[in-house]
Amino acid sequence: MPFINGKDMLMHAYKNGYGVGAFSAHNAETIQAIIWAAEETQSPVMIQVGQKVIQYMGMREMKSMIETFGEGTTVPIAIHLDHSRQFEQTAAAIKQGFQSVMFDGSGLEFEENARITARVVDIARALGIGAEGEIGKIGGTEDGITVEEEDAAITTVEEATRFVDSTDVDYLAISIGTAHGIFHNAPTIRMERLQEIVTAVQRPIVLHGGSSVPDDQVREAISLGVSKINIDTELRQAFSLGVQEVFNENPEEWHLAVSLDKGRERTKEKVLEKIKVFGSEGKAVDLLGSIAKQEEVGV
Ligand SMILES: [Zn+2]
Repeated sequence: MPFINGKDMLMHAYKNGYGVGAFSAHNAETIQAIIWAAEETQSPVMIQVGQKVIQYMGMREMKSMIETFGEGTTVPIAIHLDHSRQFEQTAAAIKQGFQSVMFDGSGLEFEENARITARVVDIARALGIGAEGEIGKIGGTEDGITVEEEDAAITTVEEATRFVDSTDVDYLAISIGTAHGIFHNAPTIRMERLQEIVTAVQRPIVLHGGSSVPDDQVREAISLGVSKINIDTELRQAFSLGVQEVFNENPEEWHLAVSLDKGRERTKEKVLEKIKVFGSEGKAVDLLGSIAKQEEVGV
């Protein structure tokens, strides 16, 4: 079985100084593109199921599709629920056997966010599933929810520490200058703040809004403790442009096998490019070895 606990995956990345791509999937073709790119580079990978695709396709349906296409894959995969804003939905994903879930309470008051996140962590941990929480609001638009610039404050060391102390979340999403979506002015990651937070909380950090962050900044952030990088917008763009390419060449190409195939090809190229930047290429064997070792000693 290629599916492993998201926490095991990210702890290996964290300890070994590389990043795991958490790539958002939207249909069968994008799932295949992510899996094929991971297989080709022997890279561990997270496949994210987001709120938009849940509304449009269904959570259980997406998970089943990922399992179907992932069967027989040699690299470790973790299926991740992205930006869940309801405890019930997060709990349902845990029950369905996702390997990783994110409860996003960043729109709530601190105490409420911490209280629900702690509950999610408890249940997820009991079942061997990784849990992500968010403190500080990340700017941009995700799932139709827009966080304006003035609200997208940079996460403080104090609030990150307090949040981790009260939730013991496995990996932490913080606001350090990136935003959801594609921007013409490249964002600047606040490296110093990132470093201070990693030193304080001692666990993997998640970078949201990874699309359109310059590669050198992503590499530096990974070297400081970012272990999960979410990529969504850039993949949707690659897929759509691939489909468009086909129609530009032949407006009457009615075979979906042709247009969707081009979208899939362009998505796969983008995933390959990101895997190389994140440094996860070739890490699958070592990660699987370390999990086997943990099982041996009964940790
Ligand atoms: Zn996000």
